[in-house]
Amino acid sequence: MSRYCGRFAPSPTGPLHMGSLVAAMASYLDAKAHFGRWLLRIEDLDFDRNVAGADLHIIASLKRCGMRWDDEVVWQSQRTSNYQIALEKLGDHVFPCACSRKEIADSRLRAGLSDHQIYPGTCRNGIAQDKAARAYRLRVPSGDAAIFEFQDRILGRQSQDLSREVGDFVLKRADGFWAYQLAVVVDDAAQGVTHIVRGADLLDSSARQIYLQQLLGLTTPTYMHVPVVLNAEGEKLSKQTGALAFDRGDNDVLQEALLPAAAFLELPLNTRPDNIDDFWLAATTAWAAKFNL
Ligand SMILES: [Zn+2]
Repeated sequence: MSRYCGRFAPSPTGPLHMGSLVAAMASYLDAKAHFGRWLLRIEDLDFDRNVAGADLHIIASLKRCGMRWDDEVVWQSQRTSNYQIALEKLGDHVFPCACSRKEIADSRLRAGLSDHQIYPGTCRNGIAQDKAARAYRLRVPSGDAAIFEFQDRILGRQSQDLSREVGDFVLKRADGFWAYQLAVVVDDAAQGVTHIVRGADLLDSSARQIYLQQLLGLTTPTYMHVPVVLNAEGEKLSKQTGALAFDRGDNDVLQEALLPAAAFLELPLNTRPDNIDDFWLAATTAWAAKFNL
């Protein structure tokens, strides 16, 4: 069995808020409790959403929290040639799609499909001669072959029918950007990640990523999806919902961020740590006890 390797992979769309700290903390504690490695990867492929300087702010905030990664930080924007290689390796599983958003919505209406996520399959067998490829999609299997099951370490047995619930999904977007699903799979494998610990908002992506891993001949890591922090309105914390940075430069991140994040993860600390190093020791012990490691 390969040595444990985990990772935290934030998008630089703004400073880290409590929701992202909870995800970072869970993956960090799981790695520490396994005596494993932990990596940091900046997922900066959506150039329209990137905020200048947010990556450096994230790195500084994690350092202020006393978190240390075991290799150089990786920026996905510097790895796009690897995504192109993977796209080519997928061969006939990939097809060019010429549909605009409006055309997809219209054909969905005609087919009587209601789920806004499902691609109606318009370009599966080729695109019309007067049209040009805009995006590249992955053909998903049909029937029983479309059902992907995996064991989540917190949520238990999970199952998703890629054909009915997702449809042929985008690997390279019409705007030229690489899709999250492909980049994550390529980079987790390249970095030797064995254990994925992340927010439950990404649970829905797991089946797509497992299918890509299988097509690319990659090992499927184990998955653990931790609860997502919601605001008072019940929305996931994000820049869009007005989440605040937990690191305001001179505030006490132990009291104001680390201890509340550990409480959210329901980690009973057996001591009240008064410094950050003691916090991580106590929290790692609590994590190992909670998950019987
Ligand atoms: Zn299409």
